[in-house]
Amino acid sequence: MVWANAAAKTISRKTAYLIREEPVRAILALFLILSATLSIREHDPPAVLSAAVSPELFSADRAVRHLSVIAEKPHPLGSIEHSVVRDYLVRELSNAGLEPQIQQATVVTEKGPPLEISTVENVLARLKGTSSGKAVLLVAHYDSVPNSFGASDDGSSVAALLETLRALKSSLPLKNDVVFLFTDAEESGLLGARAFVAEHPWAKDLGVVLNFEARGNSGPVIMFETTDENGWLIKQFAHASPFPVAHSLSYEIYKLLPNQTDFNVFRKAGMAGLNFAQIDGLSHYHTSFDNRQSVDEESLQHHGSYALALTRYFGNLDLGQTKERNAVYFDLFGNLLVHYSSFWVIPLTFFVCTLFVALLVLGLRRQKLTIRGIALGFLSLFVNVLVTSLLSWLLWKAVWLIRGGPPIEATQSRLLMLSFVVLALATTSAVYVLMRKRSTSFDLGVGVLLWWLILMVVTSIFLPGGSFLFHWPLLFSLIGLGWMILAPQSKSSLNLLILGLCAVPGIVLVVPIIYQMFVGLTLTWIPLLIALTVLFFGLLMPHLRFIAVPFRWVLPGVAVAAAIVLLVVGGLSNYGNTEQQPSRIYYALNTDTGKAVWASDPVSRDERASALFTESEQKGMLADFAYARTSREYSLSSAPVASLPAPEMSVLEDKSTDGVRAIRMRISSPRQAGIFFVYLDSKADVLKTLVNNKLIDDEGAASSEPKKQWGLRINGFPQQGLELQLQVRASEPLKIRLVDQSYGLPPPLAGTAPQPNSDFTFLAKSFSL
Ligand SMILES: [Zn+2]
Repeated sequence: MVWANAAAKTISRKTAYLIREEPVRAILALFLILSATLSIREHDPPAVLSAAVSPELFSADRAVRHLSVIAEKPHPLGSIEHSVVRDYLVRELSNAGLEPQIQQATVVTEKGPPLEISTVENVLARLKGTSSGKAVLLVAHYDSVPNSFGASDDGSSVAALLETLRALKSSLPLKNDVVFLFTDAEESGLLGARAFVAEHPWAKDLGVVLNFEARGNSGPVIMFETTDENGWLIKQFAHASPFPVAHSLSYEIYKLLPNQTDFNVFRKAGMAGLNFAQIDGLSHYHTSFDNRQSVDEESLQHHGSYALALTRYFGNLDLGQTKERNAVYFDLFGNLLVHYSSFWVIPLTFFVCTLFVALLVLGLRRQKLTIRGIALGFLSLFVNVLVTSLLSWLLWKAVWLIRGGPPIEATQSRLLMLSFVVLALATTSAVYVLMRKRSTSFDLGVGVLLWWLILMVVTSIFLPGGSFLFHWPLLFSLIGLGWMILAPQSKSSLNLLILGLCAVPGIVLVVPIIYQMFVGLTLTWIPLLIALTVLFFGLLMPHLRFIAVPFRWVLPGVAVAAAIVLLVVGGLSNYGNTEQQPSRIYYALNTDTGKAVWASDPVSRDERASALFTESEQKGMLADFAYARTSREYSLSSAPVASLPAPEMSVLEDKSTDGVRAIRMRISSPRQAGIFFVYLDSKADVLKTLVNNKLIDDEGAASSEPKKQWGLRINGFPQQGLELQLQVRASEPLKIRLVDQSYGLPPPLAGTAPQPNSDFTFLAKSFSL
């Protein structure tokens, strides 16, 4: 009787427990999903402030108006539109009450032959502060790539800086000067920034550099890169940024990449600073989709929130000492920046290792853990990472094998990413179902956390900026697991609460970073993204086991089905946003012979080109217009002669001493073509080249090797022309050929349809001296 009573009591307690448990499982699952979703959503950029807000505030609504001029047309170096943007910036700076200047500089981009130089024009101005400390430098580049309107890259940053200037002017003056630098020719090799650092006197007055960029058109603006010894900078950044999105892992990664923004130049010059960019919407980057309509005004507001707040803050600080030991930092929900000195990385690693060992010893002693079970957990994660990464990679490849190459837009497909994440959930929960009898939750948990421990140690030593990603999730998971192992069984609801809370740091830190890596690296890196995802699911092992294992194959089954549906929908989606690259057409007129040709690539020729090629076609080189070595074969067809003025030359001075002939000449393009070539068609050794009295450092000319044919290419050829001096040793008269190259085709011949910037017009004229 007593026994029966006890049995009945046990059964009723068990049933009650089960009934209570069902909603708890659901609540825990919901809690985890909600935390993960929120951790991503909370990184959205801030809301746009309307043009009606107080003038001291930054309004994206006000800033975006600048884009109607800046992003009206593509404006690469050497185009007419480029000078339109330059003049607009000068005007806006004047209107704001500053004294703008244009820094013109000549930069060697390719040592000869043929020698290649670029004439760049930075636009800059200085907002005076009340004292004479170091200045704050704000940078954005104003050129675009030829086929893009450059609205986000980097027009929105330029607009943000103009609006920042307006807001600064309508509030109290700062202590420090603020230099606004709109660099030229970033897209051609960071040339404007190079010229500024090398030649401009203001480059020596700077305390902090803030560079604003774009590698897409939308999403949060991330402070993705800093200069070395960033401890002090990060403290100020944490203090002053209203919506900080940043983590030190990206600092470590960017340090390793051959990364190409103006910031590189400032970093190499030893300055202190921060680099910002939005990275979502890759299909807009450097394409014709980067236009005024596609600009995400929230990203623009985010740019402005950094620019204005940080300028105000740095503008009132002493910028004499800006370097301090590197910091480890990460943001929470895009609202708060956690940061500490990298000094703490190793002690923290020791602390977490000690905790891990203590848990291991205690667990083994109390017989809650077995070495075999832990080894099984360790191995199962490894196999799971390998299998799931490989599987997602194969599925990704299979989709594009069927559809024929992924369009850029598809590489950022959320649906497909979600499909692979759900697949990882399926494999992970399947592993736990398989292992349910072979190994306990505790064993599996410790086995998984051993991987986290190894990665923590490795990052602490080799990538200290990335160590936080392992320190904090591991620490809290150890606390959760430790509680489960050591706590008395009876308080199961408290156990669950603690388990749930201990998962939060992992979710909040890891999920947004996996998401950011997906946006930044795209699905072409799917094996890495999924490896991290599986590793992350390892942290949630006790939770997943609690939620799913009693239902055996239900969760893996449902997850596989969901992954397949997402994959099919994502794979079949219409990624219409792919740019059709127009075929490239050249019009080349030799004014010496009076003959003109159309030329295009023989393979890829669209209807537009075919319509122009009315005469019989032949294969041939554009030898009259190109440097002999760089010319290649085109489809050619004779073309009508357009009435265009040929490039001009006037000799200013011509004298010979000791067999060396020094010629000073003025060359110009009356039709204001932005690219200019000077070729030497007679035998001569060019000893020295000077452009506007500046000696061009040309290794080719100085070497004792047999001289190759000399040639000079000038990008961003000035509208007013320039002065060229050559010192040559020659036994025969010089034959110089000038060629100018402009964007687009001659209007009367090409019709009135808008022309892509892939077309070019060449004019050649020879001179004998
Ligand atoms: Zn850019």
